[in-house]
Parts: sequence; structure tokens; C-alpha cells
Amino acid sequence: MTGFRDMLKWEAYKLTHQGFWTFFSIAFTLLFFYALFLIFIIIYPYLPYQNLYFFYCSGTYSVHLLSYILGNGLFLFFYMQKSVKIDKWKINSIPWPWEKPQKWSEDLKKLIKSVLFMQLCILPISLSISGLTVKFRSQPEDLSFKEVLWQIAFFTVCEDFLFYWSHRAMHTPWLYKNIHKQHHEYNVSISFAAEYAHPLEYILGNSLPMALGTLVLGHTNTHIITWFIWVSFRTVSTADGHCGYDFPWSPLFFFPFHTGAAFHDFHHSKNQGNYGSFFTIWDTICGTDYQFFRFFEKNEGKIKD
Ligand SMILES: [Zn+2]
Ligand SMILES: [Zn+2]
Repeated sequence: MTGFRDMLKWEAYKLTHQGFWTFFSIAFTLLFFYALFLIFIIIYPYLPYQNLYFFYCSGTYSVHLLSYILGNGLFLFFYMQKSVKIDKWKINSIPWPWEKPQKWSEDLKKLIKSVLFMQLCILPISLSISGLTVKFRSQPEDLSFKEVLWQIAFFTVCEDFLFYWSHRAMHTPWLYKNIHKQHHEYNVSISFAAEYAHPLEYILGNSLPMALGTLVLGHTNTHIITWFIWVSFRTVSTADGHCGYDFPWSPLFFFPFHTGAAFHDFHHSKNQGNYGSFFTIWDTICGTDYQFFRFFEKNEGKIKD
């Protein structure tokens, strides 16, 4: 019962925090999906859709890379401003990693090395293997925007389910010590470190949950354009979840039961519960967001410490 009450309180907090920005948030999200959908429809005849294997590998790689650069580029812009107006939305009082220059130069090297290793090694290998089983629809056809939207909503629910359970498993002593600890090196989360993880976690804890929806729905029921839009959305949303800011205009905030950056930030700063990626639902059902909400309550409904 407490969990359900907490969940409603969180929804109320999000609504009041966001206020009139809710309309912007809904419009921006729809625009994001529709713009991507239109771009793909327009450029599709020029893409190598006849060769599904090559198209899947090169397309997924490029969409992820582009979304990673653009999403993180936006947050880099905010970080670089060092502005009071922007930093008033910073979630916790722990200094940004770059405010401790000596440690940061080491951390930055590790982060760049890890990102390059994922981009140049793990991602190409995992795509070339998973590509062997891919059977997405790829012919030019009348793909409706409605289909894209409901399938992405379905993929999000599936991703969140598997992410929650694999993430919770990652917090068992052996898996945490040997695999997941790397992701938790950042107790104040920053968008670039969203994918900073052990390669095994990258594959089992991030990529597999992402693919679950298409496996449940069946590849032949999914158009590859929908898959590309989903990859872009997931890449941007995970950067948003780690950005360290609780912006009232966050485009994802209006989704009912959405975690928001503050929820995952608590997971990083306090390392207690809050295992869900997109929704608070599994944490509420399993009671793993209890400490977050007690903190939230003690803080009189504010998320900053
Ligand atoms: Zn964790
Ligand atoms: Zn994280």
C-alpha cells in the first residue's frame, strides 16, 4: 500500500514540477518520433535495404552513434555553461566529476577508452552476430506512424521489465563486484557515463533488454525503421536518465510512471534500490524504491539533498 501511495506522490511531484512544460514535453516527444519517422521515409529509397544483414548492422551502428553524439552534445553544452540558471536544476549536491580535476583526468581517460572499446569492438561484434538472426521487415511499404508509436511503447515496457530484473541481479554480491561496479564508479551521474559499463553488462544488461520487445513481437512484425527509431530513442533516453539534471522540461517526464533522471540519480548517489530504467512500476511492485521515497519524504517532497 505504501508503495502505491509513493508512486502516486511521485506522479503528483512530476506534474507540479513540470507545470506548463508538460505541453512542451508532449509536443517535443511526438515531434522527436515524427521527425525521425519522416526522415527515414524520405531517405529510405537511398538506403541499402535490399541487403538486410548489412542494413541492420550499419544502420543500427550509425543511428546509435549519431544519437549518442547529438544527445550527449546537448548535455555537454549545458555542462559547459557552468551557469547558475542551469545548475539550479542539478539533482544532488555532490560536485560534478570535473570539479575534482586530478581525479577527473584519470576518469576521463577511462571513460574515453571504454566508449572507444564499445564503439570499435563490442558493438560491431555484437551487431555482426545478432545480425545473423535478424528478420525485420525491410521493404519500402506503407509503414504507419501509429504502428511505430505503439510498437515503441511496447518495446519500452519489455525493455524496462528485463532491465529491472537484470539490473537487480547485477546488484547481487558477485555480479556487482565483478561486473556492475564499473557503472557505479560515477556516484554523480553524467550523460556520457550512461553506457560506461563492463562489456558483459553492455550486452546482457543493456542490449538484450533493448531487443526483448522485437523478439516477443516477432521480427517479421517489426519494420526496421521502427527498430532504428527505437535505438535512437533508447540511446537518447538513457543519456537523459544519467544527465544529473531534473529539468522541468525534460521531454520524457510526462510519461505516466516514468522514472525521470532523479530516480536513477538516487541509484547512483546512494546505491540503494531504484533498479528500473524507464518506469517506476517494478520498483513499486517489489518495494525496491522504498528508500528513495523515504528520502523524498524526509526532504519534504524535494529531490535535492
Ligand atoms: Zn546499479
Ligand atoms: Zn546508471
